[in-house]
Amino acid sequence: MAAQTLTEKILARHSGKNSVEPGENIWVDVDILMTHDVCGPGTIGVFHQNFGRDAKVWNKEKVVIIPDHYIFTADKMANRNVDVLRAFVKEQGLPHFYDVGSERYKGVCHIALPEEGHTRPGEILLGTDSHTCTAGAFGEFATGIGNTDAGFVMGTGKTWLKVPPTLRFVFNGDLPPYLMAKDLILAVIGDIGCDGATYQAMEFDGDGVYALNIEERMTLCNMAIEAGGKNGIIAADQKTIDFVKSRDKASKPFVVEKSDAGARFAREFVYDVKALRPVVAKPHSPDNRAYVDECKGTKLDRAYIGSCTGGKMTDFRAAAKILAGKEVKIDTFVVPATTEVARTLKTEKLGGKTLEEIFLNAGAKIGEASCAACLGGPSDTFGRLNQAIRCISTTNRNFPGRMGHKQAEVFLASPLTVAASALTGQITDPREYVS
Ligand code: SF4
Repeated sequence: MAAQTLTEKILARHSGKNSVEPGENIWVDVDILMTHDVCGPGTIGVFHQNFGRDAKVWNKEKVVIIPDHYIFTADKMANRNVDVLRAFVKEQGLPHFYDVGSERYKGVCHIALPEEGHTRPGEILLGTDSHTCTAGAFGEFATGIGNTDAGFVMGTGKTWLKVPPTLRFVFNGDLPPYLMAKDLILAVIGDIGCDGATYQAMEFDGDGVYALNIEERMTLCNMAIEAGGKNGIIAADQKTIDFVKSRDKASKPFVVEKSDAGARFAREFVYDVKALRPVVAKPHSPDNRAYVDECKGTKLDRAYIGSCTGGKMTDFRAAAKILAGKEVKIDTFVVPATTEVARTLKTEKLGGKTLEEIFLNAGAKIGEASCAACLGGPSDTFGRLNQAIRCISTTNRNFPGRMGHKQAEVFLASPLTVAASALTGQITDPREYVS
């Protein structure tokens, strides 16, 4: 049998084959289907239309519904979307619903999924959101699908897909303290472009990747889609296994696999992590890469620390390290990805102060766990860019209008760079604060 990549092995097992080839079209069994308030109503509509008004989802345990996008808003249409989810969950008796206003409310789906034990090595996780690739950090095949495909999965538990070729990105060496996974992935996207991995698996490997904690690995996989990748993936190691076991209340068994020696990669890219410098993506594209020291001094109006890319505890620990005992010069918005992260900000301390106190004392505003302004949203969304201003952000996209106003300019950067820039009101190298 030919040597296979990790992505190929997972897809082969889920299609009942011993091996698959890039380019082959296969049917696979899906382990988890996730949807949220933006795409859930459309998916439910497709499901009802095609399987009948009285149809039941293929497996109640495998459907996860997480409202997270347009949550804390007076917008009637946004609120109606959540009502549609509620009605569907009631009709189907779905157990994995994280409703806003309830004790179970979580926040951003891609961080909520692992926190609530819905991510496991070797599985296939599909979601109606392009950043579903985040879960590849757990050694599984995870990708975003549209409402039509999701409606079909809801009824059958299966989908049809083409096996992607795999690109391999090897990071050697430990990250210096002034760099984060965000710098690595922005460097990769800058090198290969927004279409550089179109319909290809992006496998991250090397001791530099395995030195990263789980949250940082999620940041790497999260932005695979910004290079057009079908999925991002990192083979599970002991850190992954420990995390997954600590979160999966049902203790569902899982399969740990890695790419075979001799597996065929379409291309390999090798990075010496120590040689990298802090990176930004300038407006208006994630591949518009520049080094922070090249755009140092660019005036800013706002800083934003949040989202599935940059709103996890690792991101806030990094930002707090820089903001502790200092004051921001520009409007700075802090948005925890999940309610668990929000609670931890209130308890975890640095230098005798909670992280929440550090942010508030520095003059930042803290919002409720959700996607908030990452995707713009209704005009009353916390942190939304309602004017043509310039923002530096830990989020993952900076296309025109992404965070609100079409003429606003968004620079993407690591939480370290965003925090350093918040203190000066201009793009600032985190090496001035962290060496
Ligand atoms: S935080 Fe942003 S990128 Fe992540 S799921 Fe929400 S809108 Fe999408």
